[in-house]
Amino acid sequence: MISNLFGFLSNDIGIDLGTANTLVFVKDRGIVLREPSVVARYKTSKKVCAVGSEAKRMLGRTPGTIEALRPMKDGVIADFEISEAMLRYFIEKVDKRKLVPPRVVIAVPSGITAVEKRAVKDSAIRAGAREVLLLGEPMAASIGAGLPIHDEYANMIVDIGGGTTEVAIISISGVSFQRSIRVGGDELDEAIVAYMKRAYGLLIGERTAEEIKFSIGSASPLDSGELSMDVRGRDSTAGLPKTIHITSQEIREEALKEVVQQIVDLVKNALDRCQPEHSADLIDRGIVLAGGGALIRGLDQVISDATGLTVIQAEDPLSCVANGTGEFLNLLDSLSREQIDRLVTQ
Ligand code: ADP
Ligand code: MG
Repeated sequence: MISNLFGFLSNDIGIDLGTANTLVFVKDRGIVLREPSVVARYKTSKKVCAVGSEAKRMLGRTPGTIEALRPMKDGVIADFEISEAMLRYFIEKVDKRKLVPPRVVIAVPSGITAVEKRAVKDSAIRAGAREVLLLGEPMAASIGAGLPIHDEYANMIVDIGGGTTEVAIISISGVSFQRSIRVGGDELDEAIVAYMKRAYGLLIGERTAEEIKFSIGSASPLDSGELSMDVRGRDSTAGLPKTIHITSQEIREEALKEVVQQIVDLVKNALDRCQPEHSADLIDRGIVLAGGGALIRGLDQVISDATGLTVIQAEDPLSCVANGTGEFLNLLDSLSREQIDRLVTQ
């Protein structure tokens, strides 16, 4: 009754604090905000001047006096002050100041330390939250992907974000195995930058590299035919603008292959280390891919070939974690304290 009243008086919020993107879910409304996890600040005063999309536009092209930073870049908090500024900005942007401060559920990379978790919680409290619960990203992604997390049978989720890839096995409402590497979509972009320089002496920025990845990036041969595109950059010797024509096959084989292999190895390693009963369950259940990295063409195929298991891409992989925090908010009032403690990360 009391919590229903609170629900009426406040907007509970779910946040996916990702390395590349932050998404905010407001209870009963769904995802209301989706912005890059970037903060821009003045170099000398350290004063924040932009957050989110506006700050991302400054990445790589900031005037000398401003720096654009990604507070969560490698799945750890690079700088407490700027992550707090980011969290505060996003909470304040969606919290329409109802009578009671919101309850906030935040999905965090599973690799963050106890000190970092404390910092995230304190930041959210300072930004106006009445209570903060942290969900591990794989758990949030599993809930968001609609996996039967309360089931005794195991399910495997692989969440490929910007800076990290996390793999977890979930059963009986808990995480029974998890591992993460600091490799994700960002490393694919960096591999493209390095390849263009190595093969063509063409210097490109990370944003151009990301566009190449979106347009023609792939992890296995494209059944529908290989793709190609023109890329503009600067010639590393002449120093002048130059255009080069590239194909999806060369990007896959010469640039992306090694990073893709690291993701495949992480999954194989998890299968090798998990409990035998869980391995057996996965033969029926397969593996679910979430996170923006799941959108690389043919990644499901490579993982399936390497493991012999069925691999399914979650519906709307970029929104899974945020939807999971929202679904968790809906469940909160019907769960016991023990059930909540099992799901959240302490
Ligand atoms: P995080 O949870 O770390 O914030 P996201 O799940 O938001 O990360 O995914 C961001 C990553 O996904 C970025 O590296 C981005 O380039 C990549 N990405 C997004 N869409 C696509 C796509 N269509 N194809 C390939 N990669 C994509
Ligand atoms: Mg994520």
